[in-house]
Amino acid sequence: MPFTLPALPFAPDALEPHIDSLTMQIHHGKHHQAYVDNLNKAIAGTPNENKSLEDLVKVAGTISPAVRNNGGGHWNHSFFWETLAPKAGGAPSGKIADAINSTFSSFDGFKEKFANAGMTRFGSGWAWLLLKDGKLEISSTPNQDNPLMDVAEAKGTPILGVDVWEHAYYLKYQNRRADYLAAFWNVVNWNKVAERFGASSK
Ligand code: MN
Repeated sequence: MPFTLPALPFAPDALEPHIDSLTMQIHHGKHHQAYVDNLNKAIAGTPNENKSLEDLVKVAGTISPAVRNNGGGHWNHSFFWETLAPKAGGAPSGKIADAINSTFSSFDGFKEKFANAGMTRFGSGWAWLLLKDGKLEISSTPNQDNPLMDVAEAKGTPILGVDVWEHAYYLKYQNRRADYLAAFWNVVNWNKVAERFGASSK
């Protein structure tokens, strides 16, 4: 099978109390694993079997819903785990901080707009900070779509994303998506976001 579940880059309880251990175990071990398994099933014996995940995601509009949804799920969750870290959060620094401040007036202004993208995504989906033509933009996508996809309303290179599916927060926060999004700022791996920003803005 071509695709495998990447290991979490931290222990499941490392993001407590902001994201609880049981949520992390189920989210990674069950939900993400299911996207990987179902993606492998959907591509088995087809020409898509030999393509990279990035190549599949880029042509989401021309592949089957099973490959689009599970390929997106695999890409998004792999990206999301790297976006999180224990003893992280707070405000970014350096070039990414400058870009956020100049684009959104302030870090608080950015956080408000990003959280709003997550809050107004009806049903399941993701909120994103992406780079498009060298400029930062905030967007959201439904289901397991992402800004790399040809079908995305706002296309670009994602550098920060948050999962707003209920499975990402329901055990601890129940229906309180706003509380989960507020807690998210305590576990953002800004070093990784800055690295993605640097790699994409060259
Ligand atoms: Mn998820």
